[in-house]
Amino acid sequence: MNPEEFRRFGHQVVDWIADYRAGVASRPVHPPVEPGAVLAQLPAAAPDDPESFELVLRDVERVLLPGLSHWQHPSFFGYFPSNGELASVLGDYLSTGLGVLGLAWQSAPALSELEERVVDWMRQMVGLSGAWSGVIQDTASTSTLLALICARERVSGFASARGGLQGGGAPLVVYVSAHSHSSVEKAALLAGFGREHVRKIGVDERFAMLTDELAHAIEDDLARGRTPCAIVATTGTTTTTAMDGIEHCAELARKHAAWLHVDGAMAGSAMILPECRALWRGIEGADSIVINPHKWLGAAFDCSLYYVRDPQHLVRVMSTNPSYLQTALDGRVKNYRDWGIPLGRRFRALKLWCLIREQGVRGLQARLRRDLANAQWLAEAVRAAPNWRVLAPVVLQTVCVRHEPPQRSADELDRHTLEWVERLHASGRAWVTPAQLDGRWMVRVSIGALATEREHVERLWRDMRDAAE
Ligand SMILES: *Cc1c(COP(=O)(O)O)cnc(C)c1O
Repeated sequence: MNPEEFRRFGHQVVDWIADYRAGVASRPVHPPVEPGAVLAQLPAAAPDDPESFELVLRDVERVLLPGLSHWQHPSFFGYFPSNGELASVLGDYLSTGLGVLGLAWQSAPALSELEERVVDWMRQMVGLSGAWSGVIQDTASTSTLLALICARERVSGFASARGGLQGGGAPLVVYVSAHSHSSVEKAALLAGFGREHVRKIGVDERFAMLTDELAHAIEDDLARGRTPCAIVATTGTTTTTAMDGIEHCAELARKHAAWLHVDGAMAGSAMILPECRALWRGIEGADSIVINPHKWLGAAFDCSLYYVRDPQHLVRVMSTNPSYLQTALDGRVKNYRDWGIPLGRRFRALKLWCLIREQGVRGLQARLRRDLANAQWLAEAVRAAPNWRVLAPVVLQTVCVRHEPPQRSADELDRHTLEWVERLHASGRAWVTPAQLDGRWMVRVSIGALATEREHVERLWRDMRDAAE
């Protein structure tokens, strides 16, 4: 494709996306798709001869679109908001269109320096002190893996430079909340701790980690000759957006020289609101934090921020320095290849920069406050309705609900919940996420798609009642 063809098709693609976004509300949020239905329409082998790009675009509309649920739909209340603000989408186009790679600072100087600047903007926006340095990763799963590898290396005195975790030292233990995200346990396993050395700590009635139980677990491990290595606390758990007590976790981590990682993948964005910052009080006592601007904040996926207090430690753990990547400037610049796992990096900072500049901090704050108010509205409505319950504190934008008609056993209620969600989903009018809380099914309503206004939440509530009652 030459630049003139690109201009023609590129305009078509932009128009198509603009139309898609403008009209997405009139589509079913989640069309019924049979497994394999899309695959069956895709040729089993690649075309030998070139095809016209018109045909490609036609197949996007004809084959792919019917096989997608619409995350940018105003009635998308599933999982978590993954907002792709259109300004951020354009930033992503620019990144791809420029086609530059950050291998070393010198391979694309502005790529590194914009990243340094934007990540520091975000640090200030969420109210972190100047003691933190950040870097953009792809996802929170990666950021948490980095955190646990850094913890392992600090606590083991750089065992990887010797025998690693096979060197026969005291086993290292990781402490997580029973409500922590699945990526945390996965990271602990990938970092080599072993499932036997991952302690899942129970939660209180607000679904926050029980810090007494955490303290006891640490003492117990010490008594058995094991070494506490890392505590992973969550600011905004996946099921209920519960807030672990960071202050207390930080105290314990300090006392036992363990690493404290804070998973704020979803709720970290809320910290751009000063009124939310008490929710992670004590955050300055952590060693690392992950925040995903690609969720609620509005950066097009993927964009995860990993902040550390000791960047030299991160670099020591992650650095590689082959001769072909060395430059005379290395002492004066940031080489982000040493701040994570991949060597090559996309110009991801562009989409975050475009988002923040086009919205302004005030614009972003106003939208998040709108969503918080919508969640409170829904919670109030649910609480006031007979036989409906709100099951967890509504700390941010997620509301956990259950319809509980009288005289039903727990099993019958489970079945009822899954059935009415199925009816709601089949109607195409809204999408929510059924999830288990205390072993029983309930429904998570995650508010915060860009297009979701009060009217959509009101409509959702009517549709939920229609489906359940
Ligand atoms: C979404 C989420 C994750 C996983 O995020 P990815 O970026 O998809 O890896 C981890 N932890 C929490 C609390 C989350 O909300």
